[in-house]
Amino acid sequence: MSGQPAVLVTGGAGYIGAHACKALAEAGFSPVCYDSLETGHREFVRWGTFVHGDIRDQAKVRETLRQHQIVAVMHFAAFSLVGESVADPQKYYQNNLAGTLTLLAAMREAGCNRLVVSSTGAVYGEVPSGLVSEARECKPINPYGASKWMVERLLADYRSAYDLTAFCLRYFNACGADESGSIGERRKSETHLIPRAMMALQGHLADFAIFGDDYPTPDGTAIRDYIHVTDLADAHVSALRLLLKGHKGGSFNLGTGSGFSVRQVLAAIAAETGREVPRTIMPRRPGDPAELVADPSRARRTLDFLPARSDLRTIVRSAWAWHQKAHPRIS
Ligand code: UDP
Repeated sequence: MSGQPAVLVTGGAGYIGAHACKALAEAGFSPVCYDSLETGHREFVRWGTFVHGDIRDQAKVRETLRQHQIVAVMHFAAFSLVGESVADPQKYYQNNLAGTLTLLAAMREAGCNRLVVSSTGAVYGEVPSGLVSEARECKPINPYGASKWMVERLLADYRSAYDLTAFCLRYFNACGADESGSIGERRKSETHLIPRAMMALQGHLADFAIFGDDYPTPDGTAIRDYIHVTDLADAHVSALRLLLKGHKGGSFNLGTGSGFSVRQVLAAIAAETGREVPRTIMPRRPGDPAELVADPSRARRTLDFLPARSDLRTIVRSAWAWHQKAHPRIS
């Protein structure tokens, strides 16, 4: 044992979890990555130790918590694709909801009661134009957002009944990649805007499309709040530090407060790479709201959350560096 406080990172071999492991290690913690590798990547586990397991395996989670004397859990293990959740809700409720319940049961058995959990801006659902604050009622419009909202709801009850303290961090659109170029976004089947656009530029995707140009937005395409994954990882470490000082946690938006349309993102990619992403226009994707932009002021006040890398240029530059390394161009 290293003497540094150990933190269990479920889904630590995934995109955001791997960045969190790096941030934890740099902040003086000892990350223990717990991942089923169903969507994670073994080669992303570069900081701390690795345990191969599923969060639905209660005994294994409990023994891992005990063996490594875990002081807190960061919970990333979840499925996170809106479209897939609409097509296969059972997969989402079984993993994101039932999996979290099992993790919480294992934490209670092991006497571990501090948690930072990944939530999402998708808990809000369809919102009017403008910034969304945490005061807004949550009305998710897809099973992914609903599964995360249910987790937040049940955590409120667990908090009062079981002395559990938890931060629920509602990410808006996570993107970009670590500056080392060793970890980034990689999925078997990619659905996200920035990686898909870059794959199209590299010749890995023949059918890139804008999903809907008839939204009630200035250029007709949907607006999102893009937040660099390293800024997200740093916010998790801030939340963890507060938990260890006795903070009670709560729900916090992690976004920039600035929204960009699909066309604006594609323009930023063209400016960075010098090439236009070939595109067609397709109908709107089921479950996609027109606009989702965070009011990040609560996180700014409590977590000192000041995203330093989340301007569109830095996001696109880091993502492009990762893509060129991870998926060399097909010529
Ligand atoms: N989008 C798009 N083409 C793509 C992928 C995404 O037009 O190939 C749009 C999508 O409809 C949404 C925005 O880009 O309006 C961001 O989608 P993404 O999947 O990256 O994140 P989400 O907001 O769904 O979590």
